[in-house]
Amino acid sequence: LQNSGQDPYPDWKPGEPTPYAALCTTFSLIEMTTKRLIILSHCSLFLRQVLRLTPQDLLPTVQLMINKLAPDYAGIELGIGESLIMKAIGETTGRSLAVIKADQHEIGDLGLVAAKSRSNQPTMFKPKPLTVRGVQEGLMAIAITEGQGAQGRKIAGIKKLLSAADTNGAGKGSKGIDITKDKGGPSEAKFIVRTLEGKLRLGLAEKTVLVALAQAMVIHETQSKGKKLPSTDELAQGEGILKSVYSELPSYEVIIPAMLEHGIFRLRENCKLQPGVPLKPMLAKPTKAITEVLDRFEGKSFTCEYKYDGERAQIHYVSPDSTNQYLVNGPSGKTQGHGLAAIFSRNSEDLSKKYPDVLAKLNTWVKEGTQSFVLDCETVAWDMEKKKVLPFQQLMTRKRKDVKVEDVKVKVCVFAFDLLFLNGEALVKKSLNERRDLMRNSFSEVEGEFSFAQFGNTNDLEEIQHLLDESVKASCEGLMVKMLDGEESGYEPSKRSRNWLKIKKDYLSGIGDSLDLVVLGAYFGRGKRTSVYGAFLLACYNPNSQQYETVCNIGTGFSEAILEEFHSQLSQYAIDRPKPFYSHSNIVKDQPDVWFEPKFVWEVKTADLTLSPRYKAAADQLSDGTGKGISLRFPRFIKQRDDKKPDQATSSRMVAEMYRKQESITKSRGPAVDDDF
Ligand code: ATP
Repeated sequence: LQNSGQDPYPDWKPGEPTPYAALCTTFSLIEMTTKRLIILSHCSLFLRQVLRLTPQDLLPTVQLMINKLAPDYAGIELGIGESLIMKAIGETTGRSLAVIKADQHEIGDLGLVAAKSRSNQPTMFKPKPLTVRGVQEGLMAIAITEGQGAQGRKIAGIKKLLSAADTNGAGKGSKGIDITKDKGGPSEAKFIVRTLEGKLRLGLAEKTVLVALAQAMVIHETQSKGKKLPSTDELAQGEGILKSVYSELPSYEVIIPAMLEHGIFRLRENCKLQPGVPLKPMLAKPTKAITEVLDRFEGKSFTCEYKYDGERAQIHYVSPDSTNQYLVNGPSGKTQGHGLAAIFSRNSEDLSKKYPDVLAKLNTWVKEGTQSFVLDCETVAWDMEKKKVLPFQQLMTRKRKDVKVEDVKVKVCVFAFDLLFLNGEALVKKSLNERRDLMRNSFSEVEGEFSFAQFGNTNDLEEIQHLLDESVKASCEGLMVKMLDGEESGYEPSKRSRNWLKIKKDYLSGIGDSLDLVVLGAYFGRGKRTSVYGAFLLACYNPNSQQYETVCNIGTGFSEAILEEFHSQLSQYAIDRPKPFYSHSNIVKDQPDVWFEPKFVWEVKTADLTLSPRYKAAADQLSDGTGKGISLRFPRFIKQRDDKKPDQATSSRMVAEMYRKQESITKSRGPAVDDDF
């Protein structure tokens, strides 16, 4: 962590805008290593530099490091398609599209193609250097452009950035690098293009940036007080504070200004869970046997709730009469206001326009005196005549955007299972028992509109089995088993916790859970299916290497109609060759007929997991040296997961754990006890 004493950017004076070239040099240093601690120290060193020289640029710097221009709930995304970027590169550099495409075919990395195109171009005059804030604003303008002529304006925006990008690779260390052979050095054009594509591919995980930010703040504050370096305790304390604050209020747009104003050690008092900023939901670990649940919760009190099969919905509310200020949804996340009613998805996407009917009826089930709340629920399709839950497929047919209350055909009922905030106070640290009581006292059930999740508090195996059967009869997926009392039953935002276990009826004899996988490629069908894709190549995601790792081919579970729909949906995202961040077999016969941009996530069931040289899932984690990956046997398509982004697919680590667990069960012929992953 010690600064070497040399100033790597002598031209960057205090108070001056942070040069984008300086950030690119850091990106380039990070790209040269795979060691997490080294990545962390480059990252933290740069953030300290920003804090020391230009603290007002801390937010855009972090946004560029994590490749997110705004919090998830603002719905602002880059992920610009290859064809648009190629056009912009061509127009900026005067090279024909055919030449750019040929380069892309040869090099396979659009970032490097851009760097190469720029370096070949003679410059008549030196462009004004790019700044971190300028790049962030330029990217934001591109991301929010919509409506008529949006494509043209997006291309113009990309051209503006690319023509200001340096030609020869910025900063130090770029000299003598052969762009086509090496990683391209710190070229600004390369990193701009990768940012536009939505993947920096530096191996810089978002949680590393969070830790680096905490370290940088603690060191900066210590040094500002004239001390040399903080103790390891102080560093750990700062990290703990930032992590817990971020998990309750996942918005750098709110946290960073507060941290600059009050300091990291007083952040907790100044940044708290609040309506308007969705928190990442708590998730459950899979189990495959009731006995496994009993082993885990032995001697503790726990509860079994129905696991409803719909869409997760976090409902945020502040009464218009409330005197409390809250943050309204917006790119900056900072606007203040009174009165709020919004619904957010599992992904923190704003679903308010999908469920105006739910919001319109809210006043019928919110009790008087309930002034503000954040409620964790599942929206489920509801049969008005038979007064019962409908299968998930019905919910899928609802329009996602701009729904008018009068046009709603598939009615939904809200099933509430947790209360995270009530009347100005966060409840996440309280026990589930207390949260449940508060929830039951603050809302009233209205048939077909709002219900509390059914539950039974029992530790008897037969009674749990009975509840499981009943839940399935009631069109649910199974049970959620949750710790009920004590500290362990607190709500853990963004964690897949051992304090919540799921038992799905379907999977009791399988591997414990379905997987959510990304579609990377497809094979043309045979026989009746020649005009559509008949099978697909799927992958899991490795957040550490930021690679999609192939895990199976799938051709089962699709109706003819769905294959047609997927053909028209996927063909728009076809690309010439696999992205450089796809980890797949290089053997010719294993190649799919078509490759795609990573866009769609499918839920898939499997009989079991096996090792195969054809796939790459978790190959580096198995350490058996054979290079074999894990693959799914007899995979079957269940449904498309519109509520998951590709980088939220099942992780390779999870696949490896499922595989190990299956192995240990096969070996011991009994259930594995510990499931801590
Ligand atoms: P899944 O495919 O099982 O939904 P997931 O990764 O989305 O997986 P999990 O934590 O594995 O999420 O399963 C919990 C999900 O089940 C929640 O996200 C929520 O949408 C849904 N759910 C239904 N009923 C409940 C309940 N009573 N308590 C918690 N979650 C519930």
